[in-house]
Amino acid sequence: MLFSIKELELRKIRFDETFQPGEIVFPGTTLKQSQPLRAEGAVELLPHTAGEVRVKGSLKGAMAAECDRCLAEVQFPIDTPIDLFYRPASDLEADETEEVEIDDGEAEIAFYEGKGIELEQLIAEQVLLLLPMQVVCDEACKGICSVCGGNRNQIECKCQIAPADDRWSALKDLAS
Ligand SMILES: [Zn+2]
Ligand SMILES: [Zn+2]
Repeated sequence: MLFSIKELELRKIRFDETFQPGEIVFPGTTLKQSQPLRAEGAVELLPHTAGEVRVKGSLKGAMAAECDRCLAEVQFPIDTPIDLFYRPASDLEADETEEVEIDDGEAEIAFYEGKGIELEQLIAEQVLLLLPMQVVCDEACKGICSVCGGNRNQIECKCQIAPADDRWSALKDLAS
C-alpha cells in the first residue's frame, strides 16, 4: 500500500491493513512472520512544512527468528505504537554539504523518495528495529557443538572444543 503524497495533499489517509506471512519481505535475515501483522493508523502531511509526513498508529503480530547459537525458532510478539516522521529525500540532497540536523529530542526521522511512503517497507523497517541484534533462544543457550553438530541443549556430548588442543597438536607436529 502506497501513501501517495498527491493524495495526502488532499486528505489524511487512514489505514487498517493485515499482512499474511510472506507478504512482506525482510531482507537479509532469517526472520519470518509467525502470525499475520496488522498495521493501523493514519498518515498526514503536516501543514506548514516542506512536505513532512507523519505516520501514527500501531503494529501488532508476531515474528520468528532463528537462535544464533542453536538455530531453534524464537518467537517475538509485536505490539508497538508507530509514530514516525518522514521528509522528502530531496531535503537530504539539499543538505548534503552540511550535516542533516536531526534533533535528539525529535522522534525518528526517515526520508521518502518518489511518489510517497510504502506501508510494507515501513513495517519491515520497524520490525527490524524492534528485534535484538543477536537472537538467542535463552541467555544460557549452549548452542551447537562444532565437533559433532549436536544441539548441546539437548544432548551432552563429550567433544573437546578447547583451543589449547590445537596448540598442543601444533607443538607435537613440530617435535616430530
Ligand atoms: Zn539457542
Ligand atoms: Zn559434540
